[in-house]
Amino acid sequence: MKILEQKIQKDGRILGADVLKVDSFLNHQIDPELMQAIGLEFAALFANEKIDKILTVESSGIAPAVFAGLALHVPVVFARKNKSLTLPENVWTADVYSFTKQTTNHIMIDHRFLSANENVLIIDDFLANGQAAEGLLKIINAAEANVVGVGIVIEKTFQKGRQILDEHGVRVESLARIKSFENGQVIFL
Ligand code: 5GP
Repeated sequence: MKILEQKIQKDGRILGADVLKVDSFLNHQIDPELMQAIGLEFAALFANEKIDKILTVESSGIAPAVFAGLALHVPVVFARKNKSLTLPENVWTADVYSFTKQTTNHIMIDHRFLSANENVLIIDDFLANGQAAEGLLKIINAAEANVVGVGIVIEKTFQKGRQILDEHGVRVESLARIKSFENGQVIFL
């Protein structure tokens, strides 16, 4: 997606060897016009699929997921990151190791918001090592719902997320695919 790549080139900041900061338009401040274009792009990519619901993880997945939900006219559910030790009842849960924060989050979705046989599209901001998407897949399986595909705003192809999702046999669509960071520059695939 050209305008997304241009935005990443202009405003993205590379941190260390493998992290891209995009907090000026996606992860802290949000660019609504870009998010709207992203939502329309996901809707076009998955136009031939039957989608009942979008799932994402708080908080950075919510903006692109809501705009995709708006374009597809379906509700959006975000998995909450549970910080307390006691789990509420009637929730689907998964453990997700966060690559950027180096901690494990327990994510959860209330049974009321995900039912058997629902067709679910996963949306997230980044695909790095695939842990967040895999956690959502686990929850979708537990709920006996169906996964339609995974829509990613920014994929880093040098990490193993794509391979993990391929092993699950899931369709993955990424709007920007980063091959490497070289001399402070983002190189797209
Ligand atoms: P994964 O579970 O695929 O390893 O990583 C997905 C999550 O980690 C994303 O939802 C995102 O919040 C965070 N993440 C992974 N890599 C990056 C990155 O390079 N930059 C930012 N800002 N977040 C990242």
